[in-house]
Amino acid sequence: SVRAAASDISFANLKVQKAAPEARKTKPANKDLVFGASFSDHMLEVPWNKQSGWAAPIISPYHRLSIDPASNVLHYGIECFEGMKAYKDKHNQIRLFRPDKNMARLKSSCERIALPSFNTNEFLNCIKELVKLDADWIPKEKGYSLYIRPTAIGTQESLGVGASNSSLLFVINSPVGPYYKTGFAPVKLLADTNNVRAWPGGTGGYKLGLNYAPTILPQLKAMEDGCQQVLWLFGPELEITEVGTMNFFMFWKNQNGETELVTPPLKDIILPGVTRDSILSLARSWGEFKVSERNFTIHDVVRGIKEKRVIELFGAGTAAIVSPIGCIKFEGQDYPIPLELGGSGKLTKRFFDTMMSIQYGELEHEWSVIV
Ligand code: PMP
Repeated sequence: SVRAAASDISFANLKVQKAAPEARKTKPANKDLVFGASFSDHMLEVPWNKQSGWAAPIISPYHRLSIDPASNVLHYGIECFEGMKAYKDKHNQIRLFRPDKNMARLKSSCERIALPSFNTNEFLNCIKELVKLDADWIPKEKGYSLYIRPTAIGTQESLGVGASNSSLLFVINSPVGPYYKTGFAPVKLLADTNNVRAWPGGTGGYKLGLNYAPTILPQLKAMEDGCQQVLWLFGPELEITEVGTMNFFMFWKNQNGETELVTPPLKDIILPGVTRDSILSLARSWGEFKVSERNFTIHDVVRGIKEKRVIELFGAGTAAIVSPIGCIKFEGQDYPIPLELGGSGKLTKRFFDTMMSIQYGELEHEWSVIV
């Protein structure tokens, strides 16, 4: 890394200040949970500065941050983040899903914006301690979880554009419910030919806050157009890249008549999703159909739908696991995809069920890490 830390994050130095019983917040009932709207009792912070490196990590009651208005995060978007979940299994054990993947991605995002690198194992151990302390905030029912949001920000008090000489790594937790409370609801996508999410040489392959702000207006326009999500395209051929904040998958009979699950390859225009990687790995382990990471275009998809070769389309990400796609709007035309199971296709449902079983420890798997 360009910015090696003077001293690394150390779990052994973690300090814990527990919230007093009277300071504990009221937990929302499961049925009232709104994504990302309520937060657990504690948070984790690890400050860094160029002179002394990483300070001792500290867990303390959830609180506001106090930062100078000149802090470079506020001016130049020096920020990156992660999204992962803690699940409670039927024996009340806490489980994380492939947390090493989120840690590696956070490290790579930090490095891309010249924030300091860190020992991901030590940091993960601190997160595990936070999650244990907030165990009561992990809703018990299947489908519910505690969403964990590790975040890194530049805190140098300077309007100069340059590598930050101080930063803060922090983690907050938010209890969340299932994406689909009443079964799958397939989404309609607007294939957007006006806005581009990511481009070669750009930052789409990193989880930087600055990638997300410009997606909100196109998302609002898609909704005005009767769609729920944006299908992000790139280049003169209109290659498929991602859908909303999820990776895109197509299950179809390809031009050669092969049954194939296909998703765009990881380059700098695709976020390396943990769910994406898991789905590819499950599909390859099943060995029932061809699994490809390769480029394809909106024209391939539309032709496939017209010729009834497209079997299922879905998005994949931590929040929903999979999100079935029921229709694509492209150049003013609607292209519906008939779904075998009504709300989703069979394969989409199979990925959903398998991932859930692993996440909640019903299916033993090395991806599920007991805290
Ligand atoms: N693409 C984008 C742009 C995202 O923000 C996310 C959510 N992190 C994903 C894909 C899915 O990634 P993951 O499976 O790791 O949640």
